[in-house]
Amino acid sequence: MDFLGDWLYLIIGVAVVGVLAVVGLLLPNRRGRVEPPAVSVDVITGDRVDEPPIIEPEAPPVPERPEGRESRLIRLRQRLSSSQGTLGRGLLALLSRDRLDEDTWEDIEDTLLTADIGVTPTQELVERLRTRLRVEGNEAGTPRDVLREELLALVDPSMDRRLAVTGTDGRPGVVLVVGVNGAGKTTTVGKIARILVAEDRSVVLGAADTFRAAAVEQLATWGERVGVDVVRGPEGSDPASVAFEAVKEGVDTGADTVLVDTAGRLQNKAGLMDELGKVKRVIEKQAPVTEVLLVLDATTGQNGMIQARVFSEVVDVSGIVLTKLDGSAKGGIVVAVQRELGVPVKLVGLGEGADDLAPFDPEAFVDALLG
Ligand code: GDP
Repeated sequence: MDFLGDWLYLIIGVAVVGVLAVVGLLLPNRRGRVEPPAVSVDVITGDRVDEPPIIEPEAPPVPERPEGRESRLIRLRQRLSSSQGTLGRGLLALLSRDRLDEDTWEDIEDTLLTADIGVTPTQELVERLRTRLRVEGNEAGTPRDVLREELLALVDPSMDRRLAVTGTDGRPGVVLVVGVNGAGKTTTVGKIARILVAEDRSVVLGAADTFRAAAVEQLATWGERVGVDVVRGPEGSDPASVAFEAVKEGVDTGADTVLVDTAGRLQNKAGLMDELGKVKRVIEKQAPVTEVLLVLDATTGQNGMIQARVFSEVVDVSGIVLTKLDGSAKGGIVVAVQRELGVPVKLVGLGEGADDLAPFDPEAFVDALLG
């Protein structure tokens, strides 16, 4: 009996150990424990070699979805107010004095000139304000109302500020972006691409600033982030040929808009004219240029005005982008440059962030000035 009992215990013991061993083998895999590297043998030397780790293919980058129109505009309006508010506050404080004597009018003039509004517009504005406040008196409204009306008239709300990004006959709209180096051209091209992508338009970018490898890389990064194609050529290649290829790709793929970044070397007027003239001519073998945007840095004052003049003599500028308004209280340049070129400011740059570009809205701008 005892003998039988011993055997029974032995059989049960072996069975339990067996079950535990099987469970033990299965469990680690189910928990996803990392297996030690597989080992194989070199067929020639007979040495053991570790298998190379299996590298999973990298997931393709998910393009960013740019900030929506409404929240972008609210955020940028606040930023515009905080950068431009000092001009309006200064003017309002002066205009609200009990007695508007000659000294006060001179201070008003200085304030306007400091904000880069320009000499002629400043004189006109002061003249209008003096007359209205004297002749119309209280009937004109508060000084704030009068100033708002007159500033708005200077900024000219009647100008068409829509961007021409749509082509005709099934061809893409072509936007040529020009301006001196450092004004913010490449950044602006990237920001416009984001806005168009957010509006579900298909976009191709042309990196025709072939003289600066950094500019090409910078544009490629912008393109990658929103998932649009960037056509580029080798460093130092002909900008016109890159522009041609970009527009060709736009035509072939049925893109809505092609944005072409150009080189901004202000070597001399003849050189610039040759280069931009050729870029435009070559593009137009594929599709008409629908918009030529001149990018100007708002912080450069008179220098910016000189650049604006040179570029407008070289190409038919159809719109102005005023960048770096966030870092400047000199929003008056909007008035000066529009007067000088007879072309509207269409967009304003309000920071280095990817979505810091806003359509220029005269009323919002004047309200931001007045705080
Ligand atoms: P490009 O040489 O004309 O192509 O100029 P970039 O696009 O390379 O811009 C030059 C510098 O200006 C960069 O550091 C940009 O981040 C900066 N920048 C461009 N637009 C704005 C803007 O609206 N606000 C500010 N604060 N910086 C800007």
